[in-house]
Amino acid sequence: MSSSIEEIIAAIGAERIGDRPATIDWILTDSRSLCFPEETLFFALKTKRNDGHKYIADLHRRGVRNFVVSEQPEETAGKFADSNFLKVANPLKALQKLAARHREKFQIPTIGITGSNGKTVVKEWLYQLLSPDKVVTRSPRSYNSQIGVPLSVWLMNEHTEVGIFEAGISEMGEMETLRPIIQPTIGILTNIGGAHQENFPSLQDKCMEKLQLFKDCDVIIYNGDNELISNCVAKSLFTAREIAWSTKDVERPLFIEKILKDDTGTTIKYRYLGFFKEYRIPFIDEASIENSLHCLAAALYLMVQPDEIARRMLHLEPIAMRLEVKEGKNNCILINDSYNSDFASLDIALDFMARRSEDKGRKRTLILSDMLESGQTSKLLYRQIADLVHSRKVDHIIGVGKEISAASGRFDIEKNFFQTTAELLDSGLLNSLRNEVVLIKGARIFHFDKITDQLELKVHETILEINLSALVENLNHYRNKLNPETKIVCMVKASAYGAGSFEVAKTLEDQRVDYLAVAVADEGADLRKAGISSAIMIMNPELTAFKTMFDYRLEPEVYSFHLLEELIKAAEREGVTNFPIHIKIDTGMHRLGFSPEEIPQLVERLHKQTAVIPRSVFSHLVGSDSQKFDPFTRQQIETFEKASQILQDGFRHKILRHICNTAGIERYPGAQFDMVRLGIGLYGVDPYTNNILHNVTTLKTTILQIHDVPAEETVGYSRKGILKRDSRIAAIPIGYADGLNRHLGNGNAYCIVNGKKAPYVGNICMDVCMIDVTDIDCKEGDKAVIFGNELPVTVLSDILDTIPYEILTSVSNRVKRVYFQD
Ligand SMILES: *Cc1c(COP(=O)(O)O)cnc(C)c1O
Repeated sequence: MSSSIEEIIAAIGAERIGDRPATIDWILTDSRSLCFPEETLFFALKTKRNDGHKYIADLHRRGVRNFVVSEQPEETAGKFADSNFLKVANPLKALQKLAARHREKFQIPTIGITGSNGKTVVKEWLYQLLSPDKVVTRSPRSYNSQIGVPLSVWLMNEHTEVGIFEAGISEMGEMETLRPIIQPTIGILTNIGGAHQENFPSLQDKCMEKLQLFKDCDVIIYNGDNELISNCVAKSLFTAREIAWSTKDVERPLFIEKILKDDTGTTIKYRYLGFFKEYRIPFIDEASIENSLHCLAAALYLMVQPDEIARRMLHLEPIAMRLEVKEGKNNCILINDSYNSDFASLDIALDFMARRSEDKGRKRTLILSDMLESGQTSKLLYRQIADLVHSRKVDHIIGVGKEISAASGRFDIEKNFFQTTAELLDSGLLNSLRNEVVLIKGARIFHFDKITDQLELKVHETILEINLSALVENLNHYRNKLNPETKIVCMVKASAYGAGSFEVAKTLEDQRVDYLAVAVADEGADLRKAGISSAIMIMNPELTAFKTMFDYRLEPEVYSFHLLEELIKAAEREGVTNFPIHIKIDTGMHRLGFSPEEIPQLVERLHKQTAVIPRSVFSHLVGSDSQKFDPFTRQQIETFEKASQILQDGFRHKILRHICNTAGIERYPGAQFDMVRLGIGLYGVDPYTNNILHNVTTLKTTILQIHDVPAEETVGYSRKGILKRDSRIAAIPIGYADGLNRHLGNGNAYCIVNGKKAPYVGNICMDVCMIDVTDIDCKEGDKAVIFGNELPVTVLSDILDTIPYEILTSVSNRVKRVYFQD
């Protein structure tokens, strides 16, 4: 749905500079996601860390001509004279206002969903339940933030009959902004838990804040059995109708009489408006049951017939909320997006693909099915898809389905079309893909999982899963503790603490961190070869690897005169000048570093050459994670302050000073200097409390075989695992060669199978180990989690009397890393 620039100016109350006629279809807040420059309006947002105004010149070069700004660029009379600048006090507020105005054009039922968990699942299931006969516009993925919500609402168009939007908040006061943008008529509160609690005084405050979304709703849906929520709703004094569902209180409008679970699903009997009805879902976990009850209430309120609801509930699909990146055969990278096949999510997935492939020079291939869900005619839809595919620089499209095949003429690139998935699988085409990035995106009924199966490289059933979204959340958690101008070094040494350096580095580069740090030159060179262009620091530079460092712009730490002399010699030999180095001072660790007394002599030496130049100066804290060492830490900081000042005084240019590691960032906010070095916290471990922030890595495997073994028999080598009772023993393909520490065996620790603890029985072998699943309902092929969300890595490190760093970095290379983002 297009808007004229005049309409937008009126909506946001902007001062216009420039008089270019324009019609706007697309809103952009992240310059990297640009797709249709001519019809795009860019909002130059200022965040704590970044400023959209910095990207205006680049976007202008790429064809964008419409900008919302808070500061008028100097060249508006010069090279930007052909553009419109809409000047406002605050571009984010303007974006929100524009979305709110846009929302007002629609007098249709709009569902606002908030709560701590389950928002995305409820949104998607409601979509599955309503979309057979309604055109639904909903938030793409989990676009639920102060920026994501306006972008979602902007997607409503003349075809939309129902809107479904998520709202997520992380601090008090935010819901007040989101309410006028969503203007929900139906409110759903999924639940209230401890997630994102840090900025709320109490759970109750958080609940009250979330309920703000529902102030003008016609109806509110929530779990009436939850006392906290019920009390908060009562306190909010809403006039809206309430559909609180309850399994206990027959007085509630939606009474859940019975919940019957069996092997393949759950049957739920309920009473609503005097009717007794039932439905069944193909899930048995508690969260799914609760989510389905919220959906039931909303569908009933929207007057979908109970029998129709039951028919659709039976076919609810699990929600894969993630883009998975996997290694494929023939050196391909697979991006598997089974989330949904709609235009908005295709756009996001193509953007993701473009960013993964740009620096590696790999060919981009898209495997796409018919898009079954849309209010548009297929002619218009496939024209838009073709435009999108071209502008995202896809090299090769493989289309599957009748509709996309009929539109094949619209695609101007290498192309193949098939009527069905089976035809594609039989064609042999998939085996010819080599060195490509392949995005696989299909509607569920096309069963594209079979395509992924054929393309995927299968090595070992044991995988280390890395949640890149959690990594970003952790980064932001620590960034929020920093002064806006403090720079950040992210430690990706030791293969990013075991998580795999390329994907982690790429993600951090996208987040525009200031430096990446690795241990040795080869790690840095590998990152460069893979296309990482951020500044990289080498913490343990080898005397034999200086050439690699010069060739790949890898900036070494320098900790001694010997190293410095060798480096200068090598640089002079190669004709390198002013190569940035990072000076390490020893303030008490006594590992590596110049002593403070040596600094004047160091300054003198540096002045006598031009090969290298100090870019930063730093030191390392030995006990910042422990109160016990606070006096020593303070002394280290003081020593550093003085010694680094002497170095700085010797030079006219600014030398960045840094000393804090993760625990230091948290515990010594006054010692940020110019930069900090974030390590373990990125990967989710708070080294001070040993708590997990957002879990990043999950080590998991699959049950290979289950044996019934009678009491008194033994399990494993040396007959160590003596059974005291008749037992079910499962074998899982992970052993000490994968990094599963042998001391965890013989009942010292456990893994998690279907949510329950399964102790290790007997000695852990090299490639396999055995677990006791006597009390667990499980079968061969079920997953076992070695560590992850359900079993924090810190539990294992405590048992082994070591630190989480060691567990994370011990997962061996043969364990495949699988990356995803929410
Ligand atoms: C590894 C390392 C860090 C990061 O430490 P964390 O405790 O993981 O935050 C910081 N500085 C140096 C010099 C390091 O080697």
